[in-house]
Amino acid sequence: MEKNQEWESGTPPGADIPVFRIPAPVAYALDRLGGAGYECYLIGGCVRDFLRGEIPHDYDLTTSALPDEVHRVFSGEHLIDSGLRHGTVTLVRDGMTLEITTYRRDGAYLDGRHPEAVEYTSSLREDAARRDFTMNAVAYHPAEGIRDYFGGEADIRARRIRAVGCADKRFSEDALRILRALRFAAVLGFSVEEETAKAIHRGAEGLRRISAERIQSELQRMLCGGHVGAVVRDFQDVLALVLSPWYEAVTQGTRSDIDLPALLPALAPDPVLRAAGFFLPLAESKEGLADVEALMRRLRYDRRSMTRVLKLLSHLSEPCTGSLPVLRRFLAALGPVDAPLLLALRIAVEKTSAAPDAEHVRALEEAAHTLQELCSGRAVCTLSDLAVGGRDLMAVGFPRGERLGRVLQALFAAVLDGEVENERERLLAYARRRFDHSV
Ligand code: ATP
Ligand code: MG
Repeated sequence: MEKNQEWESGTPPGADIPVFRIPAPVAYALDRLGGAGYECYLIGGCVRDFLRGEIPHDYDLTTSALPDEVHRVFSGEHLIDSGLRHGTVTLVRDGMTLEITTYRRDGAYLDGRHPEAVEYTSSLREDAARRDFTMNAVAYHPAEGIRDYFGGEADIRARRIRAVGCADKRFSEDALRILRALRFAAVLGFSVEEETAKAIHRGAEGLRRISAERIQSELQRMLCGGHVGAVVRDFQDVLALVLSPWYEAVTQGTRSDIDLPALLPALAPDPVLRAAGFFLPLAESKEGLADVEALMRRLRYDRRSMTRVLKLLSHLSEPCTGSLPVLRRFLAALGPVDAPLLLALRIAVEKTSAAPDAEHVRALEEAAHTLQELCSGRAVCTLSDLAVGGRDLMAVGFPRGERLGRVLQALFAAVLDGEVENERERLLAYARRRFDHSV
């Protein structure tokens, strides 16, 4: 197939070609396809990352070769066909998976989610045109440089998200692109170009047709972005649709002093912590926890994340400051993973509230500090952390049976209260002193 000589923008022939460090398996795939007479370019997130000076986390290749031609070029190698429906053949080489997709133009979208048919094309430009944003439509080949038909390079430099072509049309074809835009804005800190932003607001209804799993995955990535605050502020109406009918409570806060756009970026980018922060305003309303649970179920959150978020939200007013025993009980109630998260959440809520109470912040920060010390030592969080167990008690004469459990509970409470150290001999002596073990 003849090389496409049309240069819209990017590296003109003869000019210095930007050199990006390409992993050996990627260079190999480009060479093999090129050597067999096909066009092949890097495209999408990896080129975007190169242009931002970042190291890509994966590499997508786009080629004029049809899937069975890709098979022929790499015959005998490790290939996976799971993406064949979209024209993608995955090459696994040196532990790296490379998605090699045939140039495509999408057929009509009748359901707002999937193109009716995938049509192959021999034109890189057409393949670029079906991509979501200009920043994701820039192609690159180490020997040829940048191929940029839609001004993606300039948009990346201006840190701008712009739909390829008519934004309204692109979002009505596939509304997931709306959430992708918000996720990229939150993660990359890019702004959404004005026309694209208007089309997002206009097209948000289309999100109703998108599956819960895909919404949740984009939402989670968005929430963990360093720039999520601006997205929550500027696209409340879009989140409304994702979260309806609980929207008002979540995005506007039922408690006037929860400022989500300020709160979220103040939290470490841990998915559970950010989700807890995001659902916090809803949790504080009447029936709040049940609503959060219903919403997380509807969004198909995994059970473990949901349980942890609900645990954090249900212990929002668990005492944690004032004395060591209080903190130890807090730690025992939440466990060593979630206790620090809940403290972090409470600190961020207080700090970003309309009228932060400096004294309260200081007490919480002190508790967080002590908690860290407790957790890095041999802190007792559950019964199983006790330095003695039922067998040890039986070995010193406590009879087997229900009573043993009560003695262990009492030892656990005594350790939490600082009455006795979590040390085997001391615990046994304490148990003997407190309980008549002959009974
Ligand atoms: P990241 O991998 O960091 O999420 P990415 O841009 O590589 O970012 P992918 O989901 O891996 O995103 O998709 C690869 C490329 O496929 C995108 O860069 C874009 O060109 C195209 N693409 C993905 N999803 C869509 C979509 N819904 N509509 C149009 N093009 C899409
Ligand atoms: Mg990618």
